Formats: sequence, structure tokens, C-alpha cells
Amino acid sequence: QNGVASPTPGGNVRVVVRVRKFLPREIQRNAECLIAMDPHTQMTKLRAPKPSPDDEGKPKSQARGKILEDKAFVFDNSFWSHDEADEHYATQEDVYNCLGEDFLDHNFEGYHTCIFAYGQTGSGKSYTMMGTPEQPGLIPRTCEDLFERIENSTNPDISYNVRVSYFEVYNEHVRDLLVPRTETPYYLRIRESPSDGPYVKDLTEVTVRNFTELMKFMRKGDMSRTVASTKMNDTSSRSHAVFTITLKQIHHDFSTDETTERTARIRLVDLAGSERAKSTEATGQRLREGSNINKSLTTLGRVIAALADPKQGRQGTRKAKDVVPYRDSILTWLLKDSLGGNSKTAMIACISPSDYEETLSTLRYADQAK
Ligand code: ADP
Repeated sequence: QNGVASPTPGGNVRVVVRVRKFLPREIQRNAECLIAMDPHTQMTKLRAPKPSPDDEGKPKSQARGKILEDKAFVFDNSFWSHDEADEHYATQEDVYNCLGEDFLDHNFEGYHTCIFAYGQTGSGKSYTMMGTPEQPGLIPRTCEDLFERIENSTNPDISYNVRVSYFEVYNEHVRDLLVPRTETPYYLRIRESPSDGPYVKDLTEVTVRNFTELMKFMRKGDMSRTVASTKMNDTSSRSHAVFTITLKQIHHDFSTDETTERTARIRLVDLAGSERAKSTEATGQRLREGSNINKSLTTLGRVIAALADPKQGRQGTRKAKDVVPYRDSILTWLLKDSLGGNSKTAMIACISPSDYEETLSTLRYADQAK
């Protein structure tokens, strides 16, 4: 199964950035757009906001406020979704065509993929992953394309099985999003199987026969996350939501009457808001929560950076195993099979157009993952 040579180290990690349009509250306060993207070089520039009138013209040493600097970063792709009138405006379809389609090809070849959306709350993570009914994002587009490919498959020797699961990692605990929420949250245990590695014990996994059925479960999980977030003071921005599609291709060889199976997992992850990674003002439960979210996000950054590092050596070698810190957080531990090796990983850094500090921290995070 999957007997293809390992690709070039580092070649399987893609880091892209997407900037959203102004929200009504930003238009209201006359916010300035601090982001510029060059579609040819894929360079993203972050401009420092204007200094306060008091500091204008003063040398840095005499300024009372912080004098900020312009910054520039280059990623594999930059998606300009700020200004619809611009000819380089990146639609939901553009994002899918650039990233989702290619990843789905990889799944049909029998390999795992994983796409993360990273960024502060309100930067466009859910919009990019889930989207809206009018403007569906990567998850519904991937699912639709998946079933279209299955339905159009002309090879009578191959049959398919598609299963989905949906869980969230909150405060280093795993919760099933496909079971009704109980008063006291019910957390699942993590086990490790010698053949398949780490997995969530008793996680609901349902077989779906078509796109409509699949979307029903996706919405159910989304609802569970949303209900929780209103009850529990915005859990959704503090939890990592992992939507998993398992694609099994069963190949029947009628001449020998043998069957072979290829299984690929598609992981689509909406990460907790990155502003939570800073736990400075937090106390008590909040502090623990903050540092745990921090742990998952920082570990993820380190795992991806290790995988993207060409000096890392090939996955599966002793050295690689030692270096990639999968075990340091629940999220990276559970996603281990979808990160590294023959799996393809993408990190979409979502940024707001006019928040210098948060955007800089997101771009830096993405940059170290490159
Ligand atoms: P997050 O999931 O990071 O908290 P959201 O995806 O909820 O952020 O985005 C915040 C708001 O911005 C939502 O109202 C969303 O519809 C809007 N938005 C985000 N990205 C875009 C975009 N590329 N184009 C249009 N609207 C967007």
C-alpha cells in the first residue's frame, strides 16, 4: 500500500496567507489597511500604522508611543481577499483551486492531508474553512468535489467508503462534536494502537453516502460547537475543531478475486484564536486554559517547522522521530499520522487588514512554520 518513495523533505508543507476585507466596525472607525500583497512574488507587506500625532516626526528614542516598523514576509501563496474590486481578489473558489483540489488529488492517491487555519479571532478562519451558504469554504468544497469524483468514477473495480468524524480539542481535552452535548462535558480518552498510532477512543464515526448526508453531520457538529460557545463564554474561539473525512478505496481484482484497500484521511482544522496564545492577563482556570491553548499552538508551530526543515532528514528515520515534538500536545499527537511522512500539510494564516500587533504575530508564526 502507498508504496511510493518519500517526497523531498519539506516539500509537503505549504504555508499561505489570506487577508480578509474590512468588517463594518472597521469601516466605521475609518481603519487603514496595513497589508499589501504582491501576486508575482507572493510577498506580504505589513505597514506600520501611523505614529500618534504627538510622536510624528520625532526620532524613535524620543517618541512616547511605540514606533513600529514595516515588515515583509514571503509565503507559498498570498490570497488577497480584501478588496473585491481588485483584479487579484482571491475568492473562496480561488483558495480551493489553489490548495484544496491538489490536496484531494493526494487523498485519491491514498495519502493523508491536513489543512489548518491559524489566526486571531475574527481574522477569517471559519470563513476560509467553512464559509457561508452563499460562499462555501474549503470544507464543503472538498466534500462536494470528493463525492463528485466518486460518482464520476468509471472504474468498476474500485468501490468507495466515506466516513466522517468531528471533534474539538479544548484545554487539552477531546470532545465529540457528533454526540449531543451533556450538562457536564464528556471528554474522550486517547489511546495508541500499534498499527494505527494515536486515536480517540469511542469517537463517533459515521458512514456517509453523499454530499448532503455529509453536510448534515458537519452542521450538527458546528451547532454543537456554537451552542457550547454561547453557553460557555465563547468556547469556539478557544477550541481547535478537527473535521476528519476518511476515504477508503477498495480495489477488487476480479482475476484473482483479491481486494486491496487504500485509506486516506482528510483533516480540516479550525484552530483556536491565536490571541489566546498570550496568557498574560489570565488567572486561574483562564490561565491554565490559556497556557494549554498556547501549548497546542506552539507545539503545532514547532512540529510544522520541524517537518518543513530540509535539514530535518527524512521522516521515519530515527533522527526525525526524535526531533518532531508530536507528543507535546494533544492536537499534534492526534494528528501525527496526517503530519509528515507522505502526508501533505497546509497552514493558512488568516489576517485582519488593520491590526498590526496580532497580524505581525500571526505572520511570524507562519514564517517559522515555513
Ligand atoms: P474567525 O473564524 O477567525 O474568528 P470569521 O471567519 O468568523 O473569523 O470571520 C470574521 C468575520 O469576517 C465574519 O463575519 C466573516 O464572514 C468575515 N470574513 C472573514 N473572511 C472574509 C473574506 N475573505 N471575505 C469576506 N468576509 C470575510
